[in-house]
Amino acid sequence: MSAQSATAMGITTSARAAVRRALLAWYRRTARDLPWRRTRAPYCIWLSEILLQQTRVETVEPYYERFMAALPTVAALAAAPLERVLRLWAGLGYYTRARSLHRAARIIVAEHGGAFPRTAAEWQRLPGIGRYTAGAVASIAYGEPVPAADGNVRRVLARLCNYTAPLNTQAGQDAIWERAEWLLPRQAPGDFNQALMELGARVCTPRRPRCPDCPVQRWCAGLSAGQPEHLPVRRNRRRVPEVEAVAGVLRRRGQILLVRRPPGLLGGMWTLPTAELRVGQSPVRRLRALLHPGLIVGAQRAIVGHQFTHRRLRVHVHACEWPRGVVHPRGNLDRRWVPPAELDAYVLTTLDRKLLRAALD
Ligand code: SF4
Repeated sequence: MSAQSATAMGITTSARAAVRRALLAWYRRTARDLPWRRTRAPYCIWLSEILLQQTRVETVEPYYERFMAALPTVAALAAAPLERVLRLWAGLGYYTRARSLHRAARIIVAEHGGAFPRTAAEWQRLPGIGRYTAGAVASIAYGEPVPAADGNVRRVLARLCNYTAPLNTQAGQDAIWERAEWLLPRQAPGDFNQALMELGARVCTPRRPRCPDCPVQRWCAGLSAGQPEHLPVRRNRRRVPEVEAVAGVLRRRGQILLVRRPPGLLGGMWTLPTAELRVGQSPVRRLRALLHPGLIVGAQRAIVGHQFTHRRLRVHVHACEWPRGVVHPRGNLDRRWVPPAELDAYVLTTLDRKLLRAALD
């Protein structure tokens, strides 16, 4: 790359070498001791990267330990029923990750004799593995010099290189990955990628970057330009739509009614009887249509909010009673009466746990 285009990256070629050295030294001195950092085993790195998607390190640690104790190898993961994997995942959200992890393990075992891919390009052919995860696993486990720009790293790079165009566009993504590639050393690329992630998580944080504590502040173009906290710039996104729904709480002899979601999103997981509402639709009528026309719907007990990636849900939770002589919902809903003390044995989403808390309070 020419000196001119290197400067266009926001920092000069000579500064690049200094940035690499300073960042690696800082990381090796101060990195948090995390269980998946004590190994280069691809299974551990892959599992931790999937768990860490959209999830904080502190939340992931106990899940990682439990997963490793229960399913310590890719062969064990591939042989486990999906239900067991979902149970280990329960509470983490974004269950598609767990399903893809399981599918990928089965592909690795069935089609590759249990041998892991070695390059980022090969990793990306597996379900649930995008450019970031492929780069992270290949660089950390195999030392392949490929970048791994997750949200934290993209923010750090936008500031370090003073990238002031919107980042949430294809052009912005391409530009920031180009910077990630340009900055990456061929030696210790895994440590360097993790150093950028660590800097984003602990120092170059979204609202208030701690620039005085930053190991690369001398070379930070965003800091020199003033107000790095305003980077990265984002083009306004469309508002996330809000969807109303209703959930019914039915009790029988101290037990609570759960039904199984039909195939599709979150299919197979247990939940309170829940249904989405069309605009202006009455929660009472919707619950009767779902469960029984004579259902006695009591007062609303709570409204539970839950944010998904593409929409926000507001669930009206109502206590209900069967009309005399009826004990089961209509239709062929797969159902189960469960004592509250046994709810922990069920694979429940975070939303369902919130609903049950509201129902049982
Ligand atoms: Fe982020 Fe500040 Fe460090 Fe620049 S100097 S990389 S803005 S923490």
